[in-house]
Formats: sequence, structure tokens, C-alpha cells
Amino acid sequence: MLIPNAPEGFKSGFVALVGRPNVGKSTLLNALVGQKIAITSPTPQTTRNRLQGILTLDQAQIILVDTPGIHKPHHLLGETIVHNAIGAISAVDLVVWVVDSTVALGSGDRFVAEIIAKAKVPAIVGLNKIDGAPSEAILQTYRDFAQGQPWEPLSFSALNDIGLEQLKTALSDRLPLGPYYYPPELVTDQPERFIMAELIREQILLLTREEIPHSVAVTIDKVDEQVKITTVMATIHVERDSQKGILIGKKGAMIKEIGSQARLQMQKLILGSVHLEMFVKVQPKWRSQPSQLQDLGYRKEK
Ligand code: GDP
Ligand code: MG
Repeated sequence: MLIPNAPEGFKSGFVALVGRPNVGKSTLLNALVGQKIAITSPTPQTTRNRLQGILTLDQAQIILVDTPGIHKPHHLLGETIVHNAIGAISAVDLVVWVVDSTVALGSGDRFVAEIIAKAKVPAIVGLNKIDGAPSEAILQTYRDFAQGQPWEPLSFSALNDIGLEQLKTALSDRLPLGPYYYPPELVTDQPERFIMAELIREQILLLTREEIPHSVAVTIDKVDEQVKITTVMATIHVERDSQKGILIGKKGAMIKEIGSQARLQMQKLILGSVHLEMFVKVQPKWRSQPSQLQDLGYRKEK
């Protein structure tokens, strides 16, 4: 893929999507780039790693950084998440502080706003979920909060594609002049394998809900691309035997369902047939051990 020379007046830069968990950052990333590259779920803390989405317009290339939701750390995995989120914010050209406009501004939002203010980066206050008919009073509290900061409020719905064209324009207007950083047809910096692993993790989150989420990691061990079908071998890592039991389910029903749903998503990703084989491995306390975190792809960034 070739990186073209940018025409005169072309703008480009990095935009971080920041906000407390579950406000719709990953949904927004997918909607802006027009393809599912970030997994989403009603369970908070779905996103673990930094993921870049690339949106190339005629006049600009916007590199969107999806950050994990910011929250107070409880264990090592949490600390890594917060550290990476703060790092992401100070390095970018612009921040979209994404909030759920159907919910009153709370301490979680304030925590995020303080971090953005400290990073001294220009921001757009993204009033998401406008389809949920938020009250004028709540909208006004967010707008008031943005006053006194160089932050501009904009409302939209990431899920229902409302107001996203205005958002794209607002983003590209605020970026500095710059080159194409990536080929225009690329939508993410992540390899396909990473997204495949995430698609499996998404189904685990969706299908097992509270029982599993925070102690699961997925690795893709092998991708064998043949003309007619692509075989994907994956391992699901959990911390306890009981979790393995839940994942496998009665007579293997749960793992079968996870597999068939994830396989459908993978087929959309690669535009071809997929045969998916999964193994469940018990690996006690992987979350607290830095070396294991790294093995599983959760890296602490400098
Ligand atoms: P994140 O944790 O901030 O990345 O949030 P997600 O993108 O995973 O979304 C959390 C939940 O909010 C999911 O169930 C989404 O479908 C939902 N959601 C996201 N955007 C919207 C929106 O514009 N309207 C509505 N009604 N729901 C949304
Ligand atoms: Mg997310």
C-alpha cells in the first residue's frame, strides 16, 4: 500500500477518544472509520489496549486512538490501563471527551475531565447517545463544565449515526497541517490477528456477562489461510478451573456458541470462510504478573 503525497492544505493528526467506561468510545471509533475494529459491549472495561482507527477524508487524515476507559486502579491490570490512558492523552493533537449524555455528570466523568485539563490538550466534549433523548438540564451541566476550558461541546449518536459528519468536520478543522501517516485505505494499525482475538473476547463478554470478563485473555496461535477456508486456532486464558467450566458450559454448549458467533464476526473481517478452533487454558493469576501480561499482549507503554 502506498502513502501518497498530501495535497496543499492537508491536515492530519492524532485524536484520543477519552471517557469513563461504557460511554461509547469504541462504538464511536467503529462508526467513524466505518468498520468494526474495536469490540464493544454493555460490560464496562471491554477495551484493554490502545487501538488506532484511521479515518481518511479528502482534506484530512484523522488517527483516532481508542483508550480504555479511565477508572481508579484496583490491581496491576487496572494501573496499566490508567497509565496508558494518561500517556495517550498527552501525546495527541486533540481529545474527544466522550460522555453519555443520558446520564448526569458524575465523579467518573470529573476524574477524566481533570486528566484532560492537566494534559492541556484542546478538546471536544462529545455528548454521545443523543438518540436517548437526554434532558436539557443534563446537557447543560456538561456544557457548563466545559466552559472556562478550550473545549467545544458537540452532540451525536455513535450507534445511530447522528451528527457524525459534523464531528468529522470539527475534528479535521482542528488538526494541524500534516502528511498522510498511513495509506488512505487502511482503517486500523492493528494486525488482523489482534482483531480476531478481540472478536472472541467480545463474545465471551457478551455471552458470559459478569462471570468471566475480567480474568480472560485470548491469544491467536495460528492462522492458516487456504484458498477455500481460513483456519484460526485460539487459546482462551482464564485464572481458575471454575471459569474454565463456565466457558465450556454444559456439554460444551457455551464454547460452541462463543465459537460460532466469533466465527461469523471473523468472516466479516476477512471476507471469507473461517474454521475456528479454541482451547481453554487455566493460568492462575495471570493478571498480577507483568511478564505474563506482556506475553498476552498487554504492554505498559513508556
Ligand atoms: P466504551 O466502553 O466507551 O468503549 O463503550 P462501548 O463503545 O463499548 O459502548 C458501551 C455501550 O453503549 C454499548 O452497549 C453500545 O452499544 C452503547 N452505545 C454506544 N453509543 C451509543 C449511542 O449513540 N446510543 C446508544 N443508545 N447506545 C450507545
Ligand atoms: Mg471501549
